[in-house]
Amino acid sequence: MKAIIIGAGVLGVSVARHLAVAGEDVLLLDQRGVGMGTTATTFGWTNSSRKPDPDYHRLNLAGMEEHARLAEQLRGAPSYFPSGALQWADAASEQRLAANVERLKSLGYPAHWITRDEATQIAGDLRIPGTITSIAHFPSEGYVLPDLFVGALLADAERHGAKCTIGEVVAIDDRPEGVAVTLAGGRVCTGDRVVLAAGRWTERLAAGAGIRIPMVTDAGRGAQTVGLLGYAGFPELDLRCVIHTPGLNLRPAAGGRTVLQALDLNRDVDPANPPSMDGNLASTLARRFSALLTDRLRAPRIDLRVGLRSLPADGHTIAGYASAHSRVYCLVSHSGMTLAPILGRLVATEITTDQEQDLLRAFRPTRFTGAQRREIEVDQHAISLGDQ
Ligand SMILES: Cc1cc2nc3c(=O)[nH]c(=O)nc-3n(C[C@H](O)[C@H](O)[C@H](O)COP(=O)(O)OP(=O)(O)OC[C@H]3O[C@@H](n4cnc5c(N)ncnc54)[C@H](O)[C@@H]3O)c2cc1C
Repeated sequence: MKAIIIGAGVLGVSVARHLAVAGEDVLLLDQRGVGMGTTATTFGWTNSSRKPDPDYHRLNLAGMEEHARLAEQLRGAPSYFPSGALQWADAASEQRLAANVERLKSLGYPAHWITRDEATQIAGDLRIPGTITSIAHFPSEGYVLPDLFVGALLADAERHGAKCTIGEVVAIDDRPEGVAVTLAGGRVCTGDRVVLAAGRWTERLAAGAGIRIPMVTDAGRGAQTVGLLGYAGFPELDLRCVIHTPGLNLRPAAGGRTVLQALDLNRDVDPANPPSMDGNLASTLARRFSALLTDRLRAPRIDLRVGLRSLPADGHTIAGYASAHSRVYCLVSHSGMTLAPILGRLVATEITTDQEQDLLRAFRPTRFTGAQRREIEVDQHAISLGDQ
């Protein structure tokens, strides 16, 4: 079988790798380059912390487990770290954290309360402010270094024969005898299946082929899709896991850097007019970071990046053929860093065997057939409350 994958983000590359390992003929196309879409601007936390929908929670749990299996198969420097994660709460947030810890425990998800001393041992060199009243530990969570992770997946895909090419797809022709994909410039690639994994560009590209993939497309100031990240070059900091504090989330990054995220600041971010390195948002991030540092450390300069989420309109993964007779398999998801390993394996299995995978049943694109937009829209607050 010849499979054409549109989009070399973490989802497309993961599917391409699994199809190539299965011996299929794989062509991976991207308009810009590998891992340069939303995958380049992610917090990279692997979790199922605030995903109340049972099917979506189950899929994310499977994603977390699959990361461990995949790490044993990939060569090169490690890119997945099962470090665990901490969530700190103050008086304003402790009830909300407690409710989530109880909910997760009732589902069998590893979550427990720890002391400040235990938190310091797990987290490393951070100062825990006196205002922190409770700390929860989630030992099965972790993080991914996106560039290294996507690089390792691609290298393995190429080792198994996959080809990766730069090219912007402008049209998809879905016919009973096969699919044809037209690139800007006129080149036409033909195949037996297309996997449409074009991230936040998917709705538009799909619509051109008569396929309905409703997504959140507002990318204006403070929109739900907008996510600010700070990168602090800070090798002196001994940070050992993902940490969520009332004003700032942190995780270790490659090259001695730390990634910073403050979800409440997203409402002031305008992607069309990105915040400057010496503006208010950068200084707010630096101030919040400094408050967590022990006396001997000073916060360094913080580089900023604005990310745009790839967000299906109802907030949940979309995985499946566009219709019963279609050869175009649609794959879009938020939480793609958590989900890429499991989605890659299950999607490739469905394509190569035509066997439906139980974990994907709730996520077919056909769920949108006939639905009004207002019936499927995601809770506007889900992201600001920490669904990553
Ligand atoms: C701020 C932020 C924080 C996040 N935090 C987390 C987190 O903590 N944990 C987690 O699990 N997830 C997180 N996510 C979500 C996660 O990063 C995404 O779900 C994931 O990166 C999406 O990957 P993708 O492959 O679907 O899309 P992308 O990485 O965007 O890849 C799509 C690719 O398609 C290509 N493309 C588009 N149109 C065309 C075309 N016409 N022709 C050819 N190529 C095309 C693009 O160039 C792009 O490379 C976060 C996202 C953001 C923005």
